Amino acid sequence: MESDKTKAAAASTAEATKTAAKKSTAGPGTTASKNGTAGSRSENRDYSQEATKEGALYKFFLDGLKDMYFAEKHILEALPKMKEAATTEELQDAFEDHHLVTQKQVSRLEKVFKSIGESAEAKKCDAIIGIVKEGENIIKETEEGSMTRDAALIIAAQKVEHYEIASYGGLVALAETLQLERAADLLQMTLEEEEDTDLDLTDIAESSINFRAADEEEEDDDDDEEEDDHDYDME
Ligand code: FE
Ligand code: FE
Ligand code: FE
Repeated sequence: MESDKTKAAAASTAEATKTAAKKSTAGPGTTASKNGTAGSRSENRDYSQEATKEGALYKFFLDGLKDMYFAEKHILEALPKMKEAATTEELQDAFEDHHLVTQKQVSRLEKVFKSIGESAEAKKCDAIIGIVKEGENIIKETEEGSMTRDAALIIAAQKVEHYEIASYGGLVALAETLQLERAADLLQMTLEEEEDTDLDLTDIAESSINFRAADEEEEDDDDDEEEDDHDYDME
C-alpha cells in the first residue's frame, strides 16, 4: 500500500512538470494580469521581481498565500477530530494520511514565502472556519458508529478539498502571471495533492460507504415498521 502511494506520488510529480506549462494561459491570472499592466505602469513592462512586488496583483497573491497558510493550519487541527469520528478504518486511514500530507503542505507554503523573499504569515480565512464548522456539526448530527456518518464526513472533507483546489488553482495562475516560477511549481504540487485526495475520497464513498449507508437506512425503516406493527398489536 505504501509503495503504491510512493508510485502515485512520483507519477503526480511527473504529471506536474508536464501540465505546468499548459495551465499557464488559463484561469483567473489571465484577466488579472491585464489589470496589473493597466494604468501608470503601462509603458514599463519590466517584470523584474522588484517591479512585480509593488503591484496590487502581487499583494493579492501574497494575501492568498497567507489565507492558505491559515487554512492549512486550521485543517491540521480538524483532521484528527474527523479521524476520531469516522466509523470505518478506511476513512480513518484516509484522514490520517491527509494529515501527514497537510503537514508537508504547511512546510511547502513556508518554502513558497521564502522563494519570494517574504516571511510566512497567516491571515484569517473565514471560509475554512465555516467549512470546518459544518463538518463538526455533521459529527454532532449523525449517529456514532454509523455508515451515514462516514458518507456525510466524506462530503464535508470534499468541501474542504474543493476550497483548497479553487484557492491553489488561482494561486498557481497568479504565480505564473507574476513570473514567480519556483512559487508556481511548489503550489502546483500542493494543488495536485488536493485533487488526488478529492478523488480518493470519491473512491471510498462510491466503492462501499454510500451503499452501506443506504442499507443502514433500510434497516432503520424495517425497525420502524416493526415498532409500528407492535403498536397495532397492543391495541
Ligand atoms: Fe491542504
Ligand atoms: Fe480563504
Ligand atoms: Fe487538503
